[in-house]
Amino acid sequence: MKIYLRIVSYIKKYKKFIVFSFFTSLLFSIFSALSIYMTIPLLKSLFTGSQTQTTQTTDNLTGIYQNIQSAFESYLFSGSKESAILKISILILVAFLLKNVTGFFHSYCMQYIEKGVLRDIRYEMYEKINKLSVRYFTQEKAGNLISRMTNDINNIQSGISAAFSSLIKEPLLIIIYLLLSLSISWEMTLISFAVFPLTVLIVSKIGTSLRRRSRRVQEKLSELLSVINETIYGAKIIRSFRAEKYRNEVFRKENDEHYRLIIKSSVTSELASPITEFLTILAGVVIIWFGGREILIYNKLKPEEFLGFIFILFQLIVPIKNLSSVSNRIQESAASGQRIFEILDYPIEVNDAINPVEYNSFTKDIVLKNVSFYYNINKYILKDINLKINKSEILAIVGPSGSGKSTLADIIARFYDVTSGEILFDGINVKDIKFSQLRDLIGIVPQETILFNDSVKNNIVFGLDNVTDEALRSAAKNANALEFIEQMENGFESIVGERGLKLSGGQKQRIAIARALLRNPQILILDEATSSLDTESERVVQAAIDNLMANRTSIVIAHRLSTIKNADKIIVIAENGISQIGTHDELMQEQSGLYKKLYEIQFNSND
Ligand code: ADP
Repeated sequence: MKIYLRIVSYIKKYKKFIVFSFFTSLLFSIFSALSIYMTIPLLKSLFTGSQTQTTQTTDNLTGIYQNIQSAFESYLFSGSKESAILKISILILVAFLLKNVTGFFHSYCMQYIEKGVLRDIRYEMYEKINKLSVRYFTQEKAGNLISRMTNDINNIQSGISAAFSSLIKEPLLIIIYLLLSLSISWEMTLISFAVFPLTVLIVSKIGTSLRRRSRRVQEKLSELLSVINETIYGAKIIRSFRAEKYRNEVFRKENDEHYRLIIKSSVTSELASPITEFLTILAGVVIIWFGGREILIYNKLKPEEFLGFIFILFQLIVPIKNLSSVSNRIQESAASGQRIFEILDYPIEVNDAINPVEYNSFTKDIVLKNVSFYYNINKYILKDINLKINKSEILAIVGPSGSGKSTLADIIARFYDVTSGEILFDGINVKDIKFSQLRDLIGIVPQETILFNDSVKNNIVFGLDNVTDEALRSAAKNANALEFIEQMENGFESIVGERGLKLSGGQKQRIAIARALLRNPQILILDEATSSLDTESERVVQAAIDNLMANRTSIVIAHRLSTIKNADKIIVIAENGISQIGTHDELMQEQSGLYKKLYEIQFNSND
């Protein structure tokens, strides 16, 4: 219930629409009842062509109704039979028109509120996803996240309207119809209410099972989405490893399972309709039987009243059914809500500084003091790292794959917080520097270039404000990218395609370098790409990287010999920590050192 109330709390923003929707639903209920009520005199004139007549009653409950009715009828049947029919027809038309107009405005308001809430929650989720620590994305499947942002958000919609139906619309309709039916015959109303709730109960039980099953279908669909997502991004790998068959099999299994679940849920949903209909008719027959006796044997009820009563009952089914499904809808939207709030409430592991120290310029050094780090408890990736990086130095990090090179760079950029120890920028703990200032200071060029399906320009500017064309061109030029960008069909406005598919590997890297150059960061973290480029591309990319590294403090996860040789300091990471520190020449002296071994392997393979 708490989760549900939290969902409902999102409608606060739409107060005006709530008030409007309340009034329209009130009017809708009144006109609905009136439009049904109008049929009684119509039937009466058809059956009897009756003249004005006063009705005597001994029954107090129906007395008010009969007084109103007689006044109404005397107006209707005051003229000729023809004019009576005309009056009734016009009144029915007007009542139905007003009912539908108010119904439309009510639905419109509801849509505005519901869709608005969905939009608000979706946006909040997206913002949160942009705040989550990078660790989250290594744990969660993309499909799962996407499904929460689409399916689950859509699912809560019926829950939002449930609050309205249960609080406003349906009770109003039920009360008005009930008053009307009571005024016609309280005995028949009682009978109906003995029979109907039972029907509704059975139908709502079917509904519960239906929802449970559709929930499973939904979960399966999110897994299916994950597989599709991976297939799109892994298209090249799948082809090159000829893994189509294997992937088809993975997909087939998920798809079949989805099919099996959907069939199961369809059986329930297909059963729901005939069972509901039969039970409704059963209830109807009991009432007709009772009503028939009242008319034929006891002469208590006029035929037109009896038919009007039946019409009202039919109208009652809808709100009662809606009301009976309210608890299901609430449960369902709460389940989806839970999946949504799990993300919204997911702890942001790496929090922005609470009492930040003003820090705009890097002046001296970055120091790592006894830094240890693990992803999973007690499985240390880095242990007791002590390191000093001076301003304007190039620090190269080398080491076998999986030794923790990227992790070290990630904790310096504070994508993760250290498990113990401290990272100090000019003596200030990195945790006390605002993200905005830290990230402005540090530029990152990752190993795998990430481009977005947007223009070249937007991929380079990427959220920076007030970038002049001149600055943009100069960054592109220094990244050796200007030439190929200008040769593209729309120059800087050309769209790069999803993940930069329309560009070559070297071109993508150069755009990423231009992106970093434009920011002109004081500290650069560069994870050199390992994927091999052809010699010409490698040369232009290397030249771009040299431009990028000039006059900066650089931390390079080094794969290229040239960077290693130029580095002021090389650290060699082995299991759990730094095994060697020194310049290239110094490290080459250590005959049995890991560095010499790694260097020789690389040197040989590059030969
Ligand atoms: P390198 O860059 O040297 O190849 P990484 O820093 O990427 O190594 O990884 C170091 C170790 O940490 C590896 O054993 C890897 O499996 C593990 N690792 C990396 N990222 C995560 C993560 N998000 N969760 C758990 N373990 C991780």
